[in-house]
Amino acid sequence: MLVVMRQDATAEETRGVLAAVESRGLKAHSIPGAQRTAIGITGNPGPLDPALFESLPGVWEAIPVSHPYKLVSREVKPDDSIVPIGGVPVGAPGFVVVVGGPCAVESREQTLTIAAGVKAAGAHLLRGGAFKPRTSPYAFQGLGEEGLRILSEARDLTGLPIVTEAVDEASLDLVERYADAIQIGARNMQNFSLLKRAGRARKPIVLKRGLSATLEEFLMSAEYILSEGNYAVVLCERGVRTFADHSRNTLDLTVVPAVKQLSHLPILVDPSHGTGRRDRVAALSRAAVAVGADGVMIEVHDHPDRALSDGPQSITPEMFAQLVGGLKKVAAAIDRAL
Ligand code: PEP
Ligand code: MN
Repeated sequence: MLVVMRQDATAEETRGVLAAVESRGLKAHSIPGAQRTAIGITGNPGPLDPALFESLPGVWEAIPVSHPYKLVSREVKPDDSIVPIGGVPVGAPGFVVVVGGPCAVESREQTLTIAAGVKAAGAHLLRGGAFKPRTSPYAFQGLGEEGLRILSEARDLTGLPIVTEAVDEASLDLVERYADAIQIGARNMQNFSLLKRAGRARKPIVLKRGLSATLEEFLMSAEYILSEGNYAVVLCERGVRTFADHSRNTLDLTVVPAVKQLSHLPILVDPSHGTGRRDRVAALSRAAVAVGADGVMIEVHDHPDRALSDGPQSITPEMFAQLVGGLKKVAAAIDRAL
């Protein structure tokens, strides 16, 4: 249920509605808009009667929300959300954000070199995993807190805010302390207890699409985070499993306009995991910008052949600089800029 306040509703009338919602044991989410405030209601096991709220002072109308996801839907919030990550406004109109960095933080020297490279090429945010979800238990699992310290140093040196993954609740506690945004990876997209913890975090969340998640499942996972009170969520398409075996995953660019229609949340595209091949990353990045993504996330390594994870899809800082040049042209063609 969405309760839309009248344009001239007073703050006291809005507080009255919030109290009425909470007195029924439901959760109220205040959604300030350009014209008027709306209040999303969650926690009701079945449909609510609009008359319950339409009779309250200051209420314009109460609208049942037809989708299973509520707070992430455009029905509830028609305006695009802008999610600031360390001051970088992801989802701002006309702005395309570029996130670059290694798959994994491997060492201080490797991370600082790559961070300087992506900064010089025009990246806005630095990525890099300190906790790595690996298919094999024998593969490099990440440097843990030491990796987070290295990322903070890279941020101090370059000024780039950092995005890094949490793989469980313990690592989320740590990542929340060090990072500017917390990544929830594809493998954890439906780890509902982790999503709830992310919803209580005081940092923005970058939520990657699950390996075989439908759009509805993807949005429901984001809904978990918003329902706990964290509205700063950025979605990220990173490819899904299909029958196709010419690339690591099938990068589903069709999801971008579909997300834009159904949700107000910004969406990034990760063509590195989407293709698994460094020679295809630039082309799919350009396509992502052209289709309306709010930005791209790219894996960069100074020695991809020696990378401890995802070397085959990592591009060099030089290739990254070229890629950014190409993105600028595509962005300009659709009245956007990096
Ligand atoms: C990553 O970003 O390095 C990563 C592990 O991504 P995903 O969860 O999309 O596989
Ligand atoms: Mn990776």
